[in-house]
Amino acid sequence: MTNNDNRLAATHQPSLRSWVASANTEGCDFPIQNLPFGRFRPAGSNETARIGVAIGDQVLDLKAADLVDHDDMNRLMASSAEDRVALRAAISAGLAEGSDRQSAWEAALLAQADVDMAVPCRIGDYTDFYTGIHHATSVGKLFRPDQPLMPNYKWVPIGYHGRVSSIGVSGQRFRRPMGQTKAPDAQQPSLGPSKRLDYELELGFFVGRGNALGEPIGIDTAEQHLFGVTLLNDWSARDIQAWEYQPLGPFLAKNFATTLSPWIVTMEALAPFRAPFERAAGDPQPLPYLDAPANRERGAIDIQVEVWLQTAKMRDAGEPAVRLTRGSTTQAAYWTAAQLVTHHTVNGCNLQPGDLFGSGTLSGPEPEQAGSLLELTQGGKNPLTLPNGETRTFLEDGDALTLRGFCERNGAVRIGLGEVTGIVEPAPR
Ligand code: MN
Repeated sequence: MTNNDNRLAATHQPSLRSWVASANTEGCDFPIQNLPFGRFRPAGSNETARIGVAIGDQVLDLKAADLVDHDDMNRLMASSAEDRVALRAAISAGLAEGSDRQSAWEAALLAQADVDMAVPCRIGDYTDFYTGIHHATSVGKLFRPDQPLMPNYKWVPIGYHGRVSSIGVSGQRFRRPMGQTKAPDAQQPSLGPSKRLDYELELGFFVGRGNALGEPIGIDTAEQHLFGVTLLNDWSARDIQAWEYQPLGPFLAKNFATTLSPWIVTMEALAPFRAPFERAAGDPQPLPYLDAPANRERGAIDIQVEVWLQTAKMRDAGEPAVRLTRGSTTQAAYWTAAQLVTHHTVNGCNLQPGDLFGSGTLSGPEPEQAGSLLELTQGGKNPLTLPNGETRTFLEDGDALTLRGFCERNGAVRIGLGEVTGIVEPAPR
């Protein structure tokens, strides 16, 4: 093991506890073994967002704790692997029980309940991939019954360039999009509010160090360019999508809102939860530029993901959200994050610190593990019945949709990705 590996392993010791008592609670998303990064400002203020680390139900202000001297998350994300591990080790040591930093750092803590979270960094470019093979197959069946999975799918990590301006953080409210749609039996399209508004359960991968234009990132070093992971809801208007998507792919069906969870769980925090990347027998192996021993041994990340819905009626009645889906990312993703980095740059395309990749909808192999309503309701044909008797084919105005994620493994302390909630408002009149 290298010195870096040793320092990282020390931050994952299951016996490690924090002097921040809430971080030691069973089932807590943010124990001392996690230490995710986000940007916060005091609730209701217009201050410049500062860099913080979540610990229990608190936020550690990194500048107030003398750990950084700036507010630039992108600069922090661009630091070297050694510097990132060194910072993580310093935060871990300072927050650990018995640390002599406790009295100084108590003044650098804010309750998460007393801060507003911002989008975690400046996002330069956003690419949404399509790595969920069960999603791609189910949706393909609905859109193209004769050819569900296109012949390129098992060879090329499919993606499209998305839009950054409409990316928001958990709590985002957005209006139901207007758009052009055409019913199969209609003579011509018409403009109106989307009637088939959906969510997509995705992970967001943030790029740390970038690459120079013209210099591809090889698969062996691809992980060094990844900073960490968030939950990502790629809201989708299925009726707009169906009419517009050929021949150039998603456009207005996708770019009206995308919502992120506020905390970036770092690749270092995810180290104990890596899993082998495997291809089903009979499937093509990746081309050599997308293949490496390390990617095969631990290229996947084992994250449990869930989707929860609370309708306006449930909220008014004080009823909790209901879980629609539970699944695991390793069962869903056909490509690893490292493969996405390498493929994205193979033509010389340059990535920059803070660039965001969406994984694509992470539906599991079972119908009830589907990561979108399009799949859960078979294209709107089989409505879901909720505990209060309401039904849903697609999202209604007032619906609050929440994604949650967490990692569990024997011998490691559970860590969470937190959650991301978005709320649908009525279309403009
Ligand atoms: Mn998507």
